[in-house]
Amino acid sequence: MSLYGDYDPQNIFAQIIRGDAPCYKLYEDEDVLAFLDVFPQAYGHTLVIPKRAAARNILEIDADSLSKVMAVVQKLTGVLVAELEPAGVQVAQFNGAPAGQTVFHIHVHIVPRYEGEALAMHAAGKAEPTELAALQARLLQRIAN
Ligand code: 5GP
Repeated sequence: MSLYGDYDPQNIFAQIIRGDAPCYKLYEDEDVLAFLDVFPQAYGHTLVIPKRAAARNILEIDADSLSKVMAVVQKLTGVLVAELEPAGVQVAQFNGAPAGQTVFHIHVHIVPRYEGEALAMHAAGKAEPTELAALQARLLQRIAN
């Protein structure tokens, strides 16, 4: 998959938006959905996606949808930093397979970074469901307060 092509409505994030596939949801409104990455590169790795824009990448999304996504990215970055107290945090977005994109519905990664800890391989090791559920509960509690 490159930068160019048709949007595939069967991609995993489209399935999650429709409720056809599960996710560890952290936030949802009319336009934006955020959930934990199930193959986390670091503890707290979160994905933020637009719900209404059938856009594969940053070249295809309309500016209004992108703004709404980024507002949630900023809010959740604050939540992750407050709750998990990482030493740093990466916010990343990949376009096209050569740039590292593996799911072709635009998304933004929020990856907390901890002192002395290297990133796990991208989209590789699956986290334990119990660990993800516990992390989800912890972050939802922080969001509610
Ligand atoms: P990309 O490589 O396209 O920038 O990122 C796609 C991300 O989606 C990867 O970090 C990968 O771990 C994550 N991912 C792939 N499949 C699933 C899934 O079924 N559920 C969740 N929550 N994340 C997924």
